[in-house]
Amino acid sequence: MAEYDYDVLIIGAGPGGYVAAIRAAQLGLKTACAEGRDTLGGTCLNVGCIPSKAMLHASEYFDAAANGTMAEMGVDVTPKLNLDKMHAQRIDAVDGLTKGIEFLFKKNKVDWKKGYATFQDAHTVKVGDETVTAKDIVIATGSSVTPLPGVEVDNDKQIVVDSTGALELSKVPNKMVVIGGGVIGLELGSVWRRLGAEVTCIEYLDEILPGLDGDIRKESRKIFKKQGIEFKLGTKVTGVTVKGKTATLTMEPAAGGDAETMDVDCVLVSIGRRPNTDGLGLDAIGLETNQRGQIEIHHDFRTSVDNVWAIGDCVPGPMLAHKAEDEGIAVAENIAGETGIVNHDVIPNVVYTLPEIAGVGLTTEQAIEQAGGDKKAIKIGKFPMMANSRAKTNHEPDGFVKVIADAETDRVLGVWCIASVAGTMIAEAGIAMEFGATSEDIAYTCHAHPTHAEALKEAAMGVRGKPIHM
Ligand code: FAD
Repeated sequence: MAEYDYDVLIIGAGPGGYVAAIRAAQLGLKTACAEGRDTLGGTCLNVGCIPSKAMLHASEYFDAAANGTMAEMGVDVTPKLNLDKMHAQRIDAVDGLTKGIEFLFKKNKVDWKKGYATFQDAHTVKVGDETVTAKDIVIATGSSVTPLPGVEVDNDKQIVVDSTGALELSKVPNKMVVIGGGVIGLELGSVWRRLGAEVTCIEYLDEILPGLDGDIRKESRKIFKKQGIEFKLGTKVTGVTVKGKTATLTMEPAAGGDAETMDVDCVLVSIGRRPNTDGLGLDAIGLETNQRGQIEIHHDFRTSVDNVWAIGDCVPGPMLAHKAEDEGIAVAENIAGETGIVNHDVIPNVVYTLPEIAGVGLTTEQAIEQAGGDKKAIKIGKFPMMANSRAKTNHEPDGFVKVIADAETDRVLGVWCIASVAGTMIAEAGIAMEFGATSEDIAYTCHAHPTHAEALKEAAMGVRGKPIHM
């Protein structure tokens, strides 16, 4: 009889966990995956990437009709919002995709253990009433919304909500405040702004979208402002009180100063996410978390406990679904005795607003810092979307592409863009960087015309010489 019930048990069926489970099974390992939610797919499919994109996409249509973009192209329409139907197509997208994972589990013979898992020892986990043993165990428990002290979220009341609540509002707020100018806040703030809400974004730092390239951050804010989102930067929210259907925010300058208040009918708290490591029983296996609650791992995703591995949002690194997925594949390959690697230097980052904002590799600031502060160590090529024939034809003039290269070797260090299809364009930059491309390699690669991607070629031409169309 086998020593363990399974070769591998994965805890959590988000993009990290479900992908790891499928890959492990494909590699011939007897695999189970524990998931506490009623559906598979984790944050991403249930309350994250997928439902937010369903609302972003649908609200883009509404906005294009309402803001005159369609009329400009000779399509005169007067839009009428059917919010219930918009939500129904969101729910439909989530249902279809989560059931798709269930199908893939069955197809690959991955056993779904329903319930929250707690470690008993390094090879034994309790899932509900069941005890499951496995030779290797992968922790892929993801993350949850970070609470803001002094602000109580109640998604049912729809007044003070987190990202999950903000996906499901049953009516368009008149005035909405987004606390936190990160990706999730700006995406969901954009949805409700497009559907008619007055949106103000309050950010503690002096610029939105922390972690992105400095130019991109500034330009994005200008574009959002043009679209009607107001910003209060360098501002700290100290509390929110709800009376009836109104929320009153108290805030003060982050650097200190006089407090002020603001009355709104919806507050979205989106100040970040924190790893799900509480309640897993990590002490039973002697596994500690770092100060941020994350599980530290070696380069092969092994934790300090030999047969326990960890991936995705619960380990250090960007909290992104595709990073979790790639780690899922790599960890399964490592457990199976193959060599699974993720190049964490080339993880694309996308904000799915309109235009989209995307980047991969180093920011200008990081590249200069890596060169010991020597600004001459890098060269930058930039090309505006206004001068790209396709973007211009499509009435999408906002944004630019920026290529950062090593001044000596010409190797591409980072690519950043704001463009309607920046999320798709950035894949090319990722491939180029993965293969160690120089800016010249991109500049001398024939790009189809007319495409937005030509702007990347022209920005690359701008690193050492001049673009043609500028
Ligand atoms: P998760 O997806 O969080 O999955 C972990 C799963 O583990 C959960 O289902 C949880 O129920 C389960 N679990 C936890 N503890 C236990 C336990 N003890 N036992 C059993 N099960 C357990 N990322 C992108 O790349 N692109 C986007 O467009 C994007 N949009 C987003 C929009 C929103 C509104 C949000 C909130 C997030 C978004 N993200 C996006 C982030 C993305 O969702 C996460 O990075 C991704 O889901 C992380 O995957 P994961 O597998 O590590 O964890």
